Amino acid sequence: MMEVRQNRTDRVFFRYQEEFEQAALQVLRSGNYILGNEVNQFEQEFAAFVGTDYAVSLASGLDALWIAFRILGIGAGDEVIVQGNTYIAIDPDRIEEKISPDTKAVLVVHLYGMPCEMNRITSLCRRYGLKLIEDCAQSHGACYEGRMTGSFGDIGCFSFYPSKHLGGFGDGGAIVTSDPGLAQQVRIFRNYGSDKRYYNKVVGANSRLDELQAALLRVKLRHIRTLTSERQEAAMRYLRGITSQWHQFVVRCKKRDRLASYLKEKGIDTLIHYPVPPHLSEAYRYLNLKKGDLPVTEQFAREVLSLPVYNGMTRAEQDYVTAAVNAFS
Ligand SMILES: *Cc1c(COP(=O)(O)O)cnc(C)c1O
Repeated sequence: MMEVRQNRTDRVFFRYQEEFEQAALQVLRSGNYILGNEVNQFEQEFAAFVGTDYAVSLASGLDALWIAFRILGIGAGDEVIVQGNTYIAIDPDRIEEKISPDTKAVLVVHLYGMPCEMNRITSLCRRYGLKLIEDCAQSHGACYEGRMTGSFGDIGCFSFYPSKHLGGFGDGGAIVTSDPGLAQQVRIFRNYGSDKRYYNKVVGANSRLDELQAALLRVKLRHIRTLTSERQEAAMRYLRGITSQWHQFVVRCKKRDRLASYLKEKGIDTLIHYPVPPHLSEAYRYLNLKKGDLPVTEQFAREVLSLPVYNGMTRAEQDYVTAAVNAFS
């Protein structure tokens, strides 16, 4: 029997062991352990990676979230719209109906590395004057329409907890933003509210990423593209390998009928497998089951759509379908 653990954070360490050890030794020998060159460099490299002007490193992902709310002035009495944790995507249609006069912000979580529908959510936030915070603790390197998660909102929050995609060797986090004022506020807040030693501007906290973690994260960041492809390949191998011979490639979409007609306009045929669940079909009327009796099944019947997949389908055809599906909103 092979033992397969849920995660093996040591595997990447051993793959790049020399680089990690060298980086750590360099910090240990430098005598500079807090807010030094490694933190500076890491922040610049991470901001460049995400595509924001600034990244400010912090002690954890949770700190990134609460500091984001603090510096955006969101506190007691304010409402923040958040998705139910189990949902992969936050549904923009549901955001709108939840907005009240007390609503100040929307927090989206790109759960499991799946980006939320950012074009609709950003325009909604703009229209209603809401702040947008992205929880990217699971989405380092995940893109939505070519832009990286974390670069859409006023603030993106990252965690570098060891099991995260860009995980360190202890706790860590960061806020990314392209607003210089916000970046400066985070920098001050994480360091006791001070930008100059012993001169405290605001009541802050101690939420600094240390030099050692920054140096180690820099090593991992250098390999992030390889690590991302490797994870994507592993996921694909699951998708290819697990039981299915892909008789159908079925996606689910709340706006299934709109998606189907949109694809039709683009020349792409789809089918619905199956629009009428057996318990609601005429043939089984004698079972006396009514609409609502099997809610999950009925939801699937409303949401499933089978994309073209067949032997002999060309790469170009598949790329065309992929691009069309990704551009649907
Ligand atoms: C891990 C995680 C956090 C918290 O990050 P920490 O660094 O552990 O504090 C927040 N949000 C999501 C979605 C996470 O996965």
